[in-house]
Amino acid sequence: METKIIYDSSINQDLIKNLKVAVIGFGSQGHAHALNLHESGVNVTVGLREDSSSFQRAEEMGLSVANLENATKDSDVVMLLLPDQVMADVYNSEVAEYMKEGSTLLFAHGFNIHFNEIKPREDLSVAMVAPKGPGHLLRRTYSEGSGMPCLVAVDRDTSGNTQEIALSYASAIGGGRAGILNTTFKEETETDLFGEQVVLCGGLTELIKNGFETLVEAGYQPESAYFETLHEVKLIVDLMYEGGFEWMRHSISDTAEYGDFSRGSRIINSDTKKEMKKVLDEIQSGAFAKEWMSQAREGAPFLKEKREEASKHQIEEIGKSLRDMMPFLDAKDVTKNK
Ligand code: NDP
Ligand code: MG
Repeated sequence: METKIIYDSSINQDLIKNLKVAVIGFGSQGHAHALNLHESGVNVTVGLREDSSSFQRAEEMGLSVANLENATKDSDVVMLLLPDQVMADVYNSEVAEYMKEGSTLLFAHGFNIHFNEIKPREDLSVAMVAPKGPGHLLRRTYSEGSGMPCLVAVDRDTSGNTQEIALSYASAIGGGRAGILNTTFKEETETDLFGEQVVLCGGLTELIKNGFETLVEAGYQPESAYFETLHEVKLIVDLMYEGGFEWMRHSISDTAEYGDFSRGSRIINSDTKKEMKKVLDEIQSGAFAKEWMSQAREGAPFLKEKREEASKHQIEEIGKSLRDMMPFLDAKDVTKNK
């Protein structure tokens, strides 16, 4: 498999501008794809369920909006940007029958194809354009003129130019500025799930939470614990993002660097790594996908319970009041700003 990174200069950027694109969903990824495509000069329609609360918002942003049938039926490319757990039902009941003969079905994550939740109509081409970051940052980086790396994969090429269409789409949402990597649905799905479970979301929040609790339980002020274990994470991660571990370590004090090398591996150790391998096994075997889909069918009780519990943690309360006092920070509150 070719692993060369692809940039805008080697992409046919006009291809997608001559096609009609439907973006299904207007959530985290949906709003970013639709707005970026629109500003790149692509003919895009946002497809939403009847009585969608996003209808007016998308229209106010200058986008053309339609119900699922109308958005889908004369589009050459249909990008599904719905929660993974509802995607198969929506595709089967409200998208598949309306898609144009020989058109292209796109995904931003391989879950439903790789785990066989969706079996696309035989005549369709199937590909993936997966931005490697949250939707709101996909939008922000595009607006600022930078971009977000994207993964591209082709599952089925009936049109003969599915790869070119996927690349052209990725370029129009800003991926070609940061770099696009060819992958497979299998690799994207498994690495994406592993990343979010072990490092980016699950691992990081548990690391921060436990660090915060340890300091507060030892009698330190929660404000001090918050600055140290949550706020400063971004500053350190920004340095890694710019120049790797070495650049970060060049910037911190020798004392911090000595503590880093001598203590870090006591926190994340060989037992932790063994557990990481188990988590990866569960992803590769399909056990995680099976568990999550069955949870989702029951209304996601575990997710709802944990979400509620986490929102009441002291780190969230103290964080809210501290962020409100940081004028440089556009503080977000999920209860006020969905
Ligand atoms: P969201 O949860 O933000 O999607 C919400 C949108 O889906 C809303 O527009 C909502 O409609 C619509 N929707 C929800 N349920 C239904 C339904 N039953 N019928 C019709 N529409 C429905 O999804 P994400 O943006 O998080 O994820 C989209 C895809 O992108 C997924 O495949 C995900 O894995 C992938 N991805 C997501 C990333 C992210 O940053 N979140 C990062 C990379 C990939 P309404 O507006 O009417 O409420
Ligand atoms: Mg991801």
